[in-house]
Amino acid sequence: MEAWEKIKKELVNIYKDTNDDPWITILNPLSFKDNSLILGVPDDFSLDWIKNHYHSDILKFARTVINDNTSVELVIDHREEIDIESKNIPKVGFTQLNNSKGLLKNYTFDNYVVGESNKFASAAAVAVSQNPGKSYNPLFIYGGVGLGKTHIINAIGNLIDDEHKGLNIIYITTENFVNDLVNHLRDRKMDIFREVYRNCDVLLIDDIQFISNKERSQEEMFHTFNTLYEEKKQIVFTSDKLPKEISNIEERLRSRFEMGLIADIQVPDIETKVAIIKKKAESDHIEIDDEIAFFLAYNTQSNIRELEGYLTRLSAYAILTKTKLNIHIAKEVLSGLIRKKDKWLTIEDIQKAVAMHFKIKVSDLLSSKRMKFISLPRQIAMFLSRTLTNASYPEIGLQFGNKDHSTVIHSVNKITEMIKDNQSIKDAVEKIKKGLG
Ligand code: ADP
Ligand code: MG
Repeated sequence: MEAWEKIKKELVNIYKDTNDDPWITILNPLSFKDNSLILGVPDDFSLDWIKNHYHSDILKFARTVINDNTSVELVIDHREEIDIESKNIPKVGFTQLNNSKGLLKNYTFDNYVVGESNKFASAAAVAVSQNPGKSYNPLFIYGGVGLGKTHIINAIGNLIDDEHKGLNIIYITTENFVNDLVNHLRDRKMDIFREVYRNCDVLLIDDIQFISNKERSQEEMFHTFNTLYEEKKQIVFTSDKLPKEISNIEERLRSRFEMGLIADIQVPDIETKVAIIKKKAESDHIEIDDEIAFFLAYNTQSNIRELEGYLTRLSAYAILTKTKLNIHIAKEVLSGLIRKKDKWLTIEDIQKAVAMHFKIKVSDLLSSKRMKFISLPRQIAMFLSRTLTNASYPEIGLQFGNKDHSTVIHSVNKITEMIKDNQSIKDAVEKIKKGLG
């Protein structure tokens, strides 16, 4: 499959400096139908591993190369015996865990943007990385989906790995912990399981909420926890639920989760989103100006993964069509994702919402009155029209009582600047935006 060769090339390219590219080479394209790319893998274990480590990158490139509705499915392909040894697949499981290798190397503090929403969690994470086992134990990081939990817990591991050479770090998702336990129970090798998990120096467990309902895993986690805790080994959990919200877990385990520090990651505010967009754009070598960055930031709900999806799409477009991005192109390229095309807000919607918020009349917004209590809302309304609709500067000017496009540009720039350091403007804009849906 020609498309697969292209996708594979991209993947091998990004993993070439790691030991990971052999994993990509065992993938076998089986079919592409109804936008679904089916890839075969040799066994359960590879399926799990690839799904957890590479699925999002595979999907990203599949969407870039094929189209953005493409989905990627992994299935076990029994037809062909793939000889894992001969393909030089890195060994996973215990040998790997013993070498602190479960960590996702791309997630570091260097590329983690800190803002109001995550400054507490990130300060706690840095503290724990500098003094593992000595500051907060366990550290329990809590936050919604796509807000950076996996990133931050891996950043902890990577920083410890850098600064405390030789420490034995295990990063594992709860799902894999459970699977690992099941496999060892089945093979009657629980002694090995315990030896590995109870002898590490740092245990990083991602998405602990998945331990709900899994009694045997809870028990094993409980004893692992106690052993490590007594020996002052660092334990970090992430979860999208607070300990008290995780259903069907034993009280004694819940109380262990609550013993140390619980740090939350909140939904990022606009500046943090803009900073994340800029950082990602920089590392992907795409040029994103302020206007595009604000447009993306305002049009995502809360999920940073969603933001990244938009950026990937923009960068693919810019690269494939060799076009320099601007706000029009960005809106066009993302219109299907952000809003259905016929569902863009209208400028009138925005004018009404702004007038209501500031308790003035829509006709004031369209007038040329210069009093500040009118001119500022007018500038905000122009800014929002620019950010939330498809309209050009002249079109916006026209709909604001036939003003010159330079007035609109001036207003948009002014509000863009004000939002950066004027809390009340920022709050007003966010509130109006929320009301608009
Ligand atoms: P979660 O595990 O909470 O669902 P992830 O850690 O997978 O979320 O984050 C989703 C994506 O957003 C990742 O690619 C991550 O790198 C990125 N991301 C999240 N928060 C930040 C941040 N503060 N700075 C930079 N990138 C971030
Ligand atoms: Mg995660």
